[in-house]
This record gives sequence, C-alpha cells and structure tokens, in this order.
Amino acid sequence: MKAIGIDLGTTNSLVAVVEGGRARALLDEAGDAILPSAVHYHSSGDIVVGKTARENATQYPEETLLSVKRLIGRTKAEAEGSGLHNYVLEQDGSALRIVVGDRRVTPIEVSAEILKSLKSRANDQLGGEISKAVITVPAYFDDAQRQATRNAGRLAGLEVLRLVNEPTAAALAYGLDKQRQGRFAVFDLGGGTFDISILDLVDGVFEVLSTGGDTQLGGDDFDTIVATWLLEQAGLLEEANASQRRAAVVAAEAAKKQLTDNFQAELRLNREGQDDFVVQMSRDEYEHLIRPTLERVQAPCRRALGDAGIRPEQLDGVVLVGGSTRSPFVQRYVAEFFEKKPLCDIDPDEVVALGAASQADLLSVDSELRLIDGGDVLLLDVTPLSVGLETMGGLAEKVIPRCSQIPASRSQEFTTYQDGQTAMDIHVVQGERELVADCRSLARFQLIGIPPGPAGQARVRVTFQIDADGILKVGAKDLTSGVEQSVNVEPTHGLTDAEVEGMLQASLDFAEEDVNARFLRTAQVESERALSAIRTALASDADLLTEEENSVIHSVIDDLNTANAGTDHRQIQDLTDLLDRVSSGFAHRRMERALAEGLKDTRVTDLADELGVDDDAAKKEE
Ligand code: ADP
Ligand code: MG
Repeated sequence: MKAIGIDLGTTNSLVAVVEGGRARALLDEAGDAILPSAVHYHSSGDIVVGKTARENATQYPEETLLSVKRLIGRTKAEAEGSGLHNYVLEQDGSALRIVVGDRRVTPIEVSAEILKSLKSRANDQLGGEISKAVITVPAYFDDAQRQATRNAGRLAGLEVLRLVNEPTAAALAYGLDKQRQGRFAVFDLGGGTFDISILDLVDGVFEVLSTGGDTQLGGDDFDTIVATWLLEQAGLLEEANASQRRAAVVAAEAAKKQLTDNFQAELRLNREGQDDFVVQMSRDEYEHLIRPTLERVQAPCRRALGDAGIRPEQLDGVVLVGGSTRSPFVQRYVAEFFEKKPLCDIDPDEVVALGAASQADLLSVDSELRLIDGGDVLLLDVTPLSVGLETMGGLAEKVIPRCSQIPASRSQEFTTYQDGQTAMDIHVVQGERELVADCRSLARFQLIGIPPGPAGQARVRVTFQIDADGILKVGAKDLTSGVEQSVNVEPTHGLTDAEVEGMLQASLDFAEEDVNARFLRTAQVESERALSAIRTALASDADLLTEEENSVIHSVIDDLNTANAGTDHRQIQDLTDLLDRVSSGFAHRRMERALAEGLKDTRVTDLADELGVDDDAAKKEE
C-alpha cells in the first residue's frame, strides 16, 4: 500500500504521493492542491475542515480555528506570550486546550482533523486504506512540538513513518541530490513560519549544516499589517468587531496576492450601516509597509550561514519554499541577501509535500523511487541547542552539542559522589550556558539500585539518543549491576525561536562569566570533598597529629572555608592543594595505623581511596 507525504502547514496543508515514478500533489474536487489549515467546530456538532472552514471564519470567528500549528506542543503561558492568536486558552494538566463554543479542543485534535481530511482525500483517489505517512515539520520544532505532531498523526489513524524537516523535504523535491555536490540554502517563508536551512550535498547525500528561522514570522504577519492599515484608513481601528477584523484580514490577504502580479490592488471593507469602505494600495506602498517585518529574516539567515561556516557567495543555489516567496519583493530581497537569483521552478506551495511524498516512497517496502535511483537518500538534520546533564555543583555538562547531526547517539560515564550512594539523579537540560540554572530543564529521573560502594567507584553510563524525528531519549545504566532506567523526553512545553535566539545570544554574552562560574563551582566541589575527608580523619585519628600540624591544618581549613564563600576559584584551588600537602604526613600515619591494626581488605581499600592512594599499592603493602 502507498505511503503519502503530508505538508502540515500553519496556513495550508497538502498531501502528495509518488506514482509512475514521480511525486504529485492530490487535488480536491475543485482542482486545488491546498487544504487551508482551518477547522470550524460548528455549534451543531459538525466539524468542517479546509476551504469552507476558512470562509466561515469571518462569520464564526469564535468557532473557527486558524494557524493552530502555532500552538501545537506549547503551554498556555508560551502561547499567550507569543500574542499571535485570538483564542481563549486553558491549561489542563500538561494539555493546552482551546475554547471553541462549548468545546475544549487540543491543538493535537485540531491538527488531527486536518490530517484526517487529507487522508480521506488520498483514500478516495488512490483507493483502499491509506495508513502510512511522512509528515513534515519546521526544522526548528522542538521535542514537544514533534511529539505533538506525531500524536496528531496517530489520532488521525496514520502510522507516521517519519517526521521530516520541511526544508529538507524541499531539497528532495528539487532533486538537488542529482547534482552530486553543492551547498544550498532553503528559504521557506510560509504563512506562519520562516525557516532557513543550509544544506551540504556530498556525493549525492544531503547533510543539513545548519538551521535557523522564526516560527512566528510569515505571510500572516503581512496580512495583519495590511489589515491594520485598512482599518486605520477606514477609521475603524479602535471600534472594529471581531468579524470586521477578520474581514479586514481576508481583504488584506487578497490584496497582497494581487500585488504579486499587479502594481495596484483594491481593498474593500464592510462598515455596518454605511457604504463599504474602498481604498487603493500600490505595490510600493505595500513593500514600504512590510519591509521592517520582512527584514526580520536577516538575523536568522546570518546566523545559519555563520553556523555553517560559509559566506553567501559560497552557496551554489538558493531554493524558495512557501507561498509568501511568490511575492516579487521577497524574491528580490532573497536575491540581494544571498547574492544570487533563487530557484523557484517548483510551485512553492507544493514543493514540501512533494518532497515528503518522495521520502514516504523511499521508506516503503515497494518503493518506486528506490528502484529508479537504485539508492537511498540519506537526510541528516541538526540539533538547534545542546542537550546534556546536570553535574555536581549545578554545572551543565553538554552531551550532544548544538548543530550535531541527527540521528545522534552519545554516551558518557558518570560516577557517584558520596560513599554508599545507591541512587543517582539524572537531570536532562538544554542550552548553551555553563550553569544549569541558566539552561532549560527537560526532564528528571532517578537511577536506583546502584550497589553501595565508596564515592567514585560506580560507573554509570548515560546515553543520549536523538532519533531521526529529533526526539530525545535518555538512558542511564549502572555498568556493575546492570540496572538501568530511561526516559523519553517529552517536555510539556516548547521554545519559541526568540527564546532559542535568546539562549544562544546569552551563551555568547555570558561566555566569560560562565567559564569563571564553571571554574568556581568545580573548585568548590573539590574543596568540599577535601574538607569532608579531613574532617572524617580528624574525628577518628586526631591523636596522630603533632601540635604544629594540628594548628597548620586547622588554619588552612579556616582559610579554605572563607575562600569557599568567595568567588576566587584560584584561591580555593590553591588552598585545596595546600590542605593536601600539609596533611600528607598525617595521611600516611593513618594509613600505617590502619595496616598495623590488621584491618580488613575493604577497610584498607576504603582508606586508600579516601587518601587518594592507589588501591593495588595498598593491597601489595598489606
Ligand atoms: P504555511 O507553510 O505556513 O502553511 P504556505 O507555504 O502555504 O504557508 O504559504 C501561505 C502563505 O503564502 C500565506 O500567507 C499566503 O497569503 C501566502 N501567499 C500565497 N500566495 C501568494 C501570492 N501569490 N503572493 C503573496 N503571498 C502569497
Ligand atoms: Mg509551508
């Protein structure tokens, strides 16, 4: 059975399939490939998806949901922070619900309605039960958003073979892989999101060098700007009701599209009780209005190029994706920025769905394309932020650094900090900063059942795996006992691009401060370890000290305690070393006493450990 490719867009969604060796978009009865990502929850209980729902939005703004992709995998606080929707939201445990009439629906359920509609289109046209699909997501989607999208697929009765990044799918659709070599930028400006990806093609295999974007920038914003302008012109900016505002947005979008092919557009707005308000807008006026918003693509583009380590002139091509790139203004802007004329031969609305269909075909047992090409196309993506673990002293240890290719798997060994410790807390964090407090917490779990032993003896291997969908799994295993524990990181909230940008910027701004903080925490952890050891030793064997030693050790302890409360990591380090040196004679005498008293193996081993003496050496002396 065929597998389909789905572009689940913020504004529009499409479904495509490979047949006869090439991908094509499936059309509705009216001959349109596009299904508006709009869902109308009618008070009668009916659910209408697509064009009709979108049209109903003017009449039933409270019952119609648009651009719900902006809310998927997000919390109420985040959604409201973004300020880019007009819905009443409720947080229900970890689920975000949108209030529509008497109903409370989750963004996952709404997305599932869109997917069901596309699935039934495919069923009608391809015959039989379609159940497998590849769904595309913006490259910047985090774990929560990817999981939520996958769940929407499941809810729609689809087996999601893979989630593929939208720009990556576009590259496939363009068949850029046939060129064998090259570096490309994929510039995707849709209705609600902007994505930029830099791809490297080596021997026909794509690798995503870097990704960037803004999940809150797109053609919708141009519509809002023009709609605001229209309401202002009509003198209705303050008093317009919800349906007039919606009507202004519809008029704005129509004018925007007209200005793609014409130099002049007419906008019309209904004024209750009066004649319609009619006004003209020129292409120049339009471009002037939206320029500041369009310019917001610059920072992510620069960063993506920087992350990939290339300059615009080193690119072999730029691919345009997304309905908004039809605009001549956008095309001109991209050509100027990247210093070359962008590729736009494939319909920018369909290109992502076509690529998803190719990928779906390649993942099917009876793939057509694999037969034709005789090979697989390997698509690699990268992580937007580093993920790692909290270690002693509240430090973040990066396990998979940002911009790593995924799928990725990396392991690191950790050990116990205290004697007799049988459990280890695993705290998974995301971010570029050195201190956990400055990173984002993704998940916590505990590995229990570590056999008790001296501090530092246990070997716990922690493995981070990011799968092809960008979903993170973290596992911890005690290598001695074999006990293990793992979590799928399903964070209850995602990050906006602004937050990702902010986190990256902060890591640069605070780099020096962070390195000092790391040195300080490390020095403090070391010194506390040393202080605790000497306290134990003094408690049991103080009689082995000379009076002079006793006073020297105590004065160093006092100095170290004072230094620990300060911020000079060098001083702490120096005093810790000094404490080691002034107590070395004492340490040896304790060792001798232990041996002389004929203590058991374990005790000697413990003591050797405590004194930092090699285990084997201790046993030999015995
Ligand atoms: P998404 O991926 O976010 O769903 P699309 O790639 O489908 O978005 O692009 C939809 C956006 O493209 C909408 O903002 C729409 O107004 C805009 N758009 C569609 N056609 C044109 C056009 N001819 N000129 C300018 N913008 C257009
Ligand atoms: Mg799109």
